[in-house]
Amino acid sequence: MELEHRSHCHPLFFQREGNAELCQGCGKGISGCAYSCSQPNCSFYLHKACAELPDEFKHPMHHQHPLYLFIKPPYSNGRFQCNVCRYSRDKFAYHCAYCQFDTCISCVLEERKITHKCHNHPLNLVQRPALFHCDACDAEDKDSSYLCSVCPFWIHRGCVSLPSTFKRIDHDHPLTLLYYLSHEYYKSDINCKICAKKVNPSYWVYHCGKCRYVAHVNCATSKTKPPSRR
Ligand SMILES: [Zn+2]
Ligand SMILES: [Zn+2]
Ligand SMILES: [Zn+2]
Ligand SMILES: [Zn+2]
Ligand SMILES: [Zn+2]
Ligand SMILES: [Zn+2]
Ligand SMILES: [Zn+2]
Ligand SMILES: [Zn+2]
Repeated sequence: MELEHRSHCHPLFFQREGNAELCQGCGKGISGCAYSCSQPNCSFYLHKACAELPDEFKHPMHHQHPLYLFIKPPYSNGRFQCNVCRYSRDKFAYHCAYCQFDTCISCVLEERKITHKCHNHPLNLVQRPALFHCDACDAEDKDSSYLCSVCPFWIHRGCVSLPSTFKRIDHDHPLTLLYYLSHEYYKSDINCKICAKKVNPSYWVYHCGKCRYVAHVNCATSKTKPPSRR
């Protein structure tokens, strides 16, 4: 298997043996199969996953613009600081030129299999938008998602990165993300303080304990104004 990759001037070959070289894409060590340079005096290595990164992608922490793959850091000092892990890096970057938002490749790849405190099993990133019913926000649509590797638990990529506390301008206290409501809330119907519709207590909500304020996660994070009281 031969590959021309724009990060390197010589063709690369896919090889079975790895020998503790560093990948020029993510900067991590290589073990097992990887691309390496076909020229005898050149040591250039890329993980298969790093060689096959898409040129453009949308990051859940940066919804505004797509990020573009840069084979060199897009700054004059030859380094960038990853906005996800905060480490300074000098290899490939995903970059937004409008916002100077950068992520390193290990953060992008590690995002494919995650553990999240909302669930006991590891979650896998579904690579294509899929039509599904979200076990976090109770919405059904076609979107990026994480699917449990063990059970049918399936949630939005956006729901995975919801902040654990959240401040709305129309509520005095910070709201806390809850993965389900405590049983005291099961006794009567609860309505969302923003859209006034019923809240299903087995889905995620934003909650203020002091005020018994409950809101759907999608309502709390949207710009929707609460219904005016008369
Ligand atoms: Zn790599
Ligand atoms: Zn080479
Ligand atoms: Zn990073
Ligand atoms: Zn941007
Ligand atoms: Zn969701
Ligand atoms: Zn599971
Ligand atoms: Zn609502
Ligand atoms: Zn409150």
